[in-house]
Amino acid sequence: MQELRRLEKKLYALQYAQNVIEYDDATVAPPESYEGRGEAVAELSAFEHALMTGETLPRLLEEVKKEPLSEQEAAEVEELSRRYRRISCVPAEEYAEFSRLTTRAMSAWEKAKAASDFSLYQPYLEKIVAARRRFAALLDPDKAPYDVLLDQFEPGLTMETCDRFFGELREVITPLIRRITEEGKKPDTSFLRGPWSLAGQRKLSDRVMEVMGIDRAHCTIGESEHPFTTEFYKGDVRITTHYFEEDMASSFYSVVHEGGHALYELHIADRLMGTCLAGGVSMGLHESQSRLYENNIGRSLPFVRAVFPSIQEIFPEQLSGVTAEEFYKAVNVAEPSLIRTEADEVTYCLHIMVRYELEKQLIAGTLAVGDIPAEWNRLMKEYLGVEVPCDRVGCLQDVHWCSGDFGYFPSYALGTAYAAQIADAMRRDFDLDAAVERGELSAVSSWLAEKIWQYGKEKSPAWLIKNACGAPFDPHYYTDYLVKKYSEIYELD
Ligand code: ZN
Repeated sequence: MQELRRLEKKLYALQYAQNVIEYDDATVAPPESYEGRGEAVAELSAFEHALMTGETLPRLLEEVKKEPLSEQEAAEVEELSRRYRRISCVPAEEYAEFSRLTTRAMSAWEKAKAASDFSLYQPYLEKIVAARRRFAALLDPDKAPYDVLLDQFEPGLTMETCDRFFGELREVITPLIRRITEEGKKPDTSFLRGPWSLAGQRKLSDRVMEVMGIDRAHCTIGESEHPFTTEFYKGDVRITTHYFEEDMASSFYSVVHEGGHALYELHIADRLMGTCLAGGVSMGLHESQSRLYENNIGRSLPFVRAVFPSIQEIFPEQLSGVTAEEFYKAVNVAEPSLIRTEADEVTYCLHIMVRYELEKQLIAGTLAVGDIPAEWNRLMKEYLGVEVPCDRVGCLQDVHWCSGDFGYFPSYALGTAYAAQIADAMRRDFDLDAAVERGELSAVSSWLAEKIWQYGKEKSPAWLIKNACGAPFDPHYYTDYLVKKYSEIYELD
């Protein structure tokens, strides 16, 4: 076990280095610098691959099974065995080549998006889809390749579960959107137009992180094209945001969202540091924490009441005469739109469903990469009723496919639904609204740290949901929450 721990330390160092490079790439690296960075990342990946597939790891994994193991040690062995299976099925050269490919794809995507020209990105995406299909078949030739990919982001998730889950959501969300559009009393959003100074928005980010109880000695905020969170280790977590002069709510809620991810990473138990269990357990569960802060807390009236005085103090001209209640309604407007990251709570999952349908077909081989723009536009029309004017605000809007992250998007919807159930469980333990309205978010973070955060990857997502909620996952908490909240805001009876 001691020898295995030394190997885990090396993996930790490699991951640390790769995360630093990735963070640098997305924030401050000069635009024409990907060539050298790609080479460095490829070398690090090759080194990691050699470490994971060399004779040491499989030998140790076999040997430690004969030792008496603590619960944590057994979880480490299981996690490493899972990673070993995943990585050892891909030949080293192919693995390094894939890493070089994704770095180049990222740069191609940035240019394609800026020019709204899918053809600049298409050749890279074709190679990425082919590689992902091949890797999935190597890992488990008996399973549908997309099921293999889903399981990597959310252990146990399958197309069958997704189809049922999305079906249930659509049954509630589609009529709710129709009622909102046809009968709803639309909140006034005129005061949100801005302009909002970037200096003011940066000040607001600091204030939001303070209210959330994020320790700035261990977490910084940067700026990137697409907001994200990365952790080097639990003592150094980075979040990013993107400021828009015409839309203050965008960055405001990005910071609340990424702050939720950051809090999770900052509260992993010390005993897991340097081991393969340090870090959030799955994409779905990670997203449940960010969504919980962003939606169930951040877009609630008590939270808006807690922070609105600060927002008004920073932007006195834009918000003079506006009340917290009016601001709350304005940031909760539900309207079918083009951009996923800007979507409201009601239409959000429909954006995910568009990506899910496309990914399912791409990985099954029934949709060609070149047909993505047309199919994207068709599904956006069918699910959300919107016309996509150009690929920049259509199929080029998300970064995820650059890294080959197919099967990732469904975990966003799943996490959003987990969040509603977790918030409901929290309400049974303490007066959530009262604590939030007083700005006492420490009640929230200590509850989550105890039930979920501390465990890192030691426990499965299903175990953590049951531990926090006292019952297995049930999407009804989410659909009930949406119907109740939006019926009030839009005054539907
Ligand atoms: Zn997120």
